Amino acid sequence: MTGPTGDSEFDGDTLHEECGVFGIFGHPDAGALTVLGLHALQHRGQEAAGIVTYDKGQFVAERHPGLVGDIFGKNSAHAASLKGSFAIGHNRYSTAGGTAVRNIQPLFADLTGGGIAIAHNGNLTNARALRAGLVQEGAIFQSTSDTEVIIHLTARSSFGPVVDKLVDALKQVEGAYSLVALTAKKLIGVRDPWGVRPLVLGRLEGAPILASESCALDIIGAEFERDVAPGEVIVITADGIESHYPFQKQRARFCVFEYIYFARPDSTVEGRNVYEARRRIGEQLAHEAPAAADVVVPVPDSGVPAAIGYSAASGLPFELGIIRNHYVGRTFIEPTDRIRQSGVRRKHNPNRAALAGKRVVLIDDSIVRGTTSKKIVQMVRDAGAAEVHFRVASPPTRHSCFYGVDTPNEHALLAHEMGIEEMAQFIGADSLAFVSIDGLYRAMGEAARDAEHPRFCDACFSGDYPIPLTDAADGAKTGQLSFLAEVA
Ligand code: SF4
Repeated sequence: MTGPTGDSEFDGDTLHEECGVFGIFGHPDAGALTVLGLHALQHRGQEAAGIVTYDKGQFVAERHPGLVGDIFGKNSAHAASLKGSFAIGHNRYSTAGGTAVRNIQPLFADLTGGGIAIAHNGNLTNARALRAGLVQEGAIFQSTSDTEVIIHLTARSSFGPVVDKLVDALKQVEGAYSLVALTAKKLIGVRDPWGVRPLVLGRLEGAPILASESCALDIIGAEFERDVAPGEVIVITADGIESHYPFQKQRARFCVFEYIYFARPDSTVEGRNVYEARRRIGEQLAHEAPAAADVVVPVPDSGVPAAIGYSAASGLPFELGIIRNHYVGRTFIEPTDRIRQSGVRRKHNPNRAALAGKRVVLIDDSIVRGTTSKKIVQMVRDAGAAEVHFRVASPPTRHSCFYGVDTPNEHALLAHEMGIEEMAQFIGADSLAFVSIDGLYRAMGEAARDAEHPRFCDACFSGDYPIPLTDAADGAKTGQLSFLAEVA
């Protein structure tokens, strides 16, 4: 894939990350630190960002479309309003048409017992069914986000304290969620019982922090303490941190794609450094799928760690044969069709010096529709490569994700429709190979995949969905992952 900003000439052929969440309790610079935390988590969502702080008896919300730096950057009035020592924030990705301001998180509601702001990473697989029931009972929804379903269920709970209300609500939802919530006196963090999405606990100058990934702690010099456990509810107050496990226990199924593509390489999630995992997957790929070639070239940036591993294991030199322009922001000019057809390459350009006359092993993290891979192969050939051998640092992506990653309908996934040979022809490569699913796990230091007791979610490769797909089974969806095209 071509990286997180989703605005390249290869648009439409990436799996988009889910969302990023951050929360901090009891620090005088809570708002500014949340801005920095969200900036570090920008790769998890680039459509919009929001922060809610609590100051002198009032919640303050700033929720806007755009990148964190554009919204809360230098001299930003939005940043200046974020006063108080408690804050939560959210980076949002949504599919086209879903970036209305009303959908930008954190969402906020006044409940009996006080206000609550919630920011959620993941996707509820029964949100549509729950929402239909709530609407029938008279609920009026302000947004199309499934996070609002959690808010309505929380508001309607007959339990007393807000934490109990929230837990009562979450017992009714199915799906993947790592969420942070803020009340006047509490910061709450929850991971779904399968632990599909990451959430870590850290601390800065005594102030507890919850964040999607450890890179959000690093940016502010905070200490990593531990991963929030699957099914754990963490309640942070002025008195300290409480941990609860109110949900029925499930076998943990962390999203293996976080290691392949979504998480930042410098993050450590679920006890594993992401860069190390990717590099080892590249080594495994070299053992499983060697190629008679001269150079190893990553598709930047996501293919880089695996290409380093492939190069080390194969002995073939690593070359930066494709250069990525990092300054292409979301506001960069959209080329007209005429300019686009003339072959404009805003974001990736071949480095002819590294490619001309060479037999090239191209390394990417995955193939989605295949249209990106096809263009990259052609670009490398046009730059003079003698042969192009495409190697993929994940098994073939054959199924859609329903747990918070925007994937196309499975019939749009190249690997769902074609065998390997046919795919190689489609993308124009001299050869094509993927790391095996057992190889993927071995590279991560695990045993081969145990079909009886899998330890990760790998449904987009295996079709083995750990959490019920109620909405999809109801016929509400046909391969689009999320409720009303919204991803939290
Ligand atoms: Fe991750 Fe794939 Fe499972 Fe979605 S289906 S949670 S992308 S492993």
